[in-house]
Amino acid sequence: MSKKSTRVEFACQALRRAIIEQALPPGTKLPEDELGARFAMSRTLVRAALAQLQSEGLVDAPPRRTATTAKPTLEEAREVFEVRRMLERDVVRLVIARWKPEFGAELEGHVREEETAHKAGDARVSGRLAGEFHVRLGQMSGNRLLRRYLGEVVSRCSLILALYGRPHSADCSVKEHREIVAALRGRNADAAIAVMEHHLGLVEHRALSDRGRDAQFDLGAVLSRYAEPLDGGGASKVTRLPRRKLGAAK
Ligand SMILES: [Zn+2]
Repeated sequence: MSKKSTRVEFACQALRRAIIEQALPPGTKLPEDELGARFAMSRTLVRAALAQLQSEGLVDAPPRRTATTAKPTLEEAREVFEVRRMLERDVVRLVIARWKPEFGAELEGHVREEETAHKAGDARVSGRLAGEFHVRLGQMSGNRLLRRYLGEVVSRCSLILALYGRPHSADCSVKEHREIVAALRGRNADAAIAVMEHHLGLVEHRALSDRGRDAQFDLGAVLSRYAEPLDGGGASKVTRLPRRKLGAAK
């Protein structure tokens, strides 16, 4: 990977994570000069990063206007959830077909992390970890394209949650994720799909049950938190990059 594309990918990762953790609410302006200064990138590279995030549905970058974090309509949000249900049904089927005991241990470890973040009252991290649970299942499906599409759809769901959801919507996911792990261990595909569909129905209900909320934030402060150098060792435990979730460039 060239130096330029590494820098673009780093900016994408930082912005993607800030959007997924709802630190940059939908509709937030993302001025090219401010991003360029923060990520030490030319405008051309900033535009490349914004174009990538636009292709993932996380950013709106109309020509000759300041890009913003995406603000999907309620109808678009429902479409995203519809696609997510379709993908996750087949993820469950494939994971069960390839099931091995290590999958159960890995998923349980992940749910424990979600529980720790939830108990610590860290709604942003517990929300991100809740999404990553599903992306891990996507990895376990063994189909890289399915994992990529699912990752994208799960990221869009985080944005939708920020726009329409209730605060602390991720709270219920620890218990529900444990139910999914138990169902996968049972290796009955129809039963596990039913558990997954029930969970996704609840996620959608929590995500689309409110008119949205206003968040107070400061773009500069958010960027400084998310734009720590990759190799600087400065990332705190809370804001570290997930091990595999965001490494889509490999
Ligand atoms: Zn979930």
